[in-house]
Amino acid sequence: MQNILQVDHIEKYFGNKGNITKALNDISFKVDKGEFVGIMGPSGSGKTTLLNCISTIDTVTTGHITINGKDITTLKRRNLEKFRRDELGFIFQDFNLLDTLTAYENIALALSIQGEKPSKIQSNLQEIAEKLEISSVLDKFPYEMSGGQEQRVASARAIVANPSLVLADEPTGALDSKSSRLLLESFEKLNKELSTTILMVTHDAFTASYSNRILFIKDGKIFNELIKGNDSRKA
Ligand code: ADP
Ligand code: ADP
Repeated sequence: MQNILQVDHIEKYFGNKGNITKALNDISFKVDKGEFVGIMGPSGSGKTTLLNCISTIDTVTTGHITINGKDITTLKRRNLEKFRRDELGFIFQDFNLLDTLTAYENIALALSIQGEKPSKIQSNLQEIAEKLEISSVLDKFPYEMSGGQEQRVASARAIVANPSLVLADEPTGALDSKSSRLLLESFEKLNKELSTTILMVTHDAFTASYSNRILFIKDGKIFNELIKGNDSRKA
């Protein structure tokens, strides 16, 4: 299996002498291509800090993070933006769609910036829109859509450029239970049918339960792992 993400003994401290918070305390794990991994933990456990370090928005204090073979802890600052654009897709709790663009334009924007041909964009986008069940809202603006539709549009935007890794931060945090279920089912579909590699952090067990493997984090440490379909009673 091709390794997409390798987190190696990372630590992250905030503050300075006398007043240090160890937000991450010796975290290591791997994600292979095609996996759907959840990281679950309570508020303050380090989820956001971990995701910020993996997404190159924040830097680690010690340790290494390798994404698609590149050690991001040693990448030059000026190369980080291109790295994020080429390798990562982001899904946020609050959707972050651009209000003055339609769903279609929101999704197409990243590809257009990269110089992709309109005809290529259209065929890519149509396929993904079908899987996410948003074909009927592509001409709508964010304010004309439900929260669930907005988040599925945001998900299409995150994966349309075919990133090596999609990072989702509390993707169901602003959704009701029906929209959450629909979103998570579409993550399952993207993962199974397009082999999209997803790393999702959440405090919510229902949300985490859709991933194939759940890592449990508390006080900046991963203390357990649940692999679905790996019930030891059947061994
Ligand atoms: P969540 O629980 O949704 O992850 P948090 O309240 O933990 O949100 O954090 C929100 C933002 O505030 C994050 O960007 C985090 O890095 C920052 N933050 C959290 N705790 C502190 C703190 N003690 N001092 C400064 N910034 C903090
Ligand atoms: P979560 O996302 O699981 O809620 P965070 O990663 O936001 O957890 O926070 C982990 C710990 O690090 C908390 O104790 C939080 O207060 C602390 N922390 C996060 N960001 C900052 C920051 N910018 N400055 C100081 N402390 C922070």
